[in-house]
Amino acid sequence: MTTTTITTVRVFDGAAMLEGSFDVTFTEQGIRAVTATTEEPIGSDTIIDGTGKTLLPGLIDTHVHFDSYADLGEFTRWGLTTVLDMGTHPKSLVDRMRDQTGLSDVRSSGSPASGPGSNQTTKGSFALSTVVSGPDDAPRFVADRVAEESDYIKIIIEDPARVGDVALGGDTIAAIVQAAHTVGLQAIAHASSTAAFHLGIDAGVDILTHVPLNGPITSEMAASMAVGNIRAIPTLIMMKGTASAVGLPDSGDGPGYHNASASVTAMAAAGLMIAVGTDANNAPFVPFRPALGESMHDELQLLVDAGLSPTEALRSATSTAAALFGLDDRGSVREGSRADLLLVTGDPTADITATRNIDHVWTAGIPAS
Ligand SMILES: [Zn+2]
Repeated sequence: MTTTTITTVRVFDGAAMLEGSFDVTFTEQGIRAVTATTEEPIGSDTIIDGTGKTLLPGLIDTHVHFDSYADLGEFTRWGLTTVLDMGTHPKSLVDRMRDQTGLSDVRSSGSPASGPGSNQTTKGSFALSTVVSGPDDAPRFVADRVAEESDYIKIIIEDPARVGDVALGGDTIAAIVQAAHTVGLQAIAHASSTAAFHLGIDAGVDILTHVPLNGPITSEMAASMAVGNIRAIPTLIMMKGTASAVGLPDSGDGPGYHNASASVTAMAAAGLMIAVGTDANNAPFVPFRPALGESMHDELQLLVDAGLSPTEALRSATSTAAALFGLDDRGSVREGSRADLLLVTGDPTADITATRNIDHVWTAGIPAS
């Protein structure tokens, strides 16, 4: 076991920047102490001078897709100590990357539920068995995911006005959510249009991921989400890249990225929990591929541009992300927490771009190589 101490460092503990200067000691088994800096010499195997630096919980990307150790290394290098896969087939590709010493910790949905003829099963690599044919088929789909030990259930909600029968119906979405809750799993739904958001809200999903480009989430819709305790993973970098790829503007009255940004503003005003997710991916059939790892830092910036304070954006990438997925052992810098840590130069609560000034990354106390 190795003991590491970072001395004279600012600490963002997952909720806020702590007042003063701290010495933080940790091992592979967790954070041992967070104490005000003293003149006393500290006995530790490794001592790192944190002067001018900020220590944060390792960042959590709650919406990624990946399929190789190299991908996982990219996440780690950019300060992401936990990544939540939202659909990779076969799931075994992700499962064999769990519990890798010194690399980001992994959770996975396995295959997402989609409708007959969906892109996921026709253009993507997902098995036809991941199509949910109707409400009666929902328990079978969820049982399949439980059998492959999925950590949560992912549902693709499409706009029926745009794709017709390919879209899962409202009753089928509600049945999948019900089946997920019966086995104690959360339902996370892809929704990138206002119609899809309405379907997800009505079905009582736990989390909606993406935000619409066709029109904004209104304050009324955000209020409905708050009543239903529905949380959000906006993936602004994905929406911005997609808007640009298909030639939509950034402003005006019509479809465009401004609707995505305005949606985040409305959801934040309604007090919804918002977690950072990027949709980083290597998929062949999507319009945009946010860079694995680096896009986390783009997303933080876009959340600040949408009106979150830097502190709120940092919570979204740490304590809020952990809370949304029941990852109680991480997302904070305090005694007893998992030693998932990110040391950066500067103060990201004053200037969010400082998260890019990466000095050190540790996953479960092991430094990233
Ligand atoms: Zn995705």
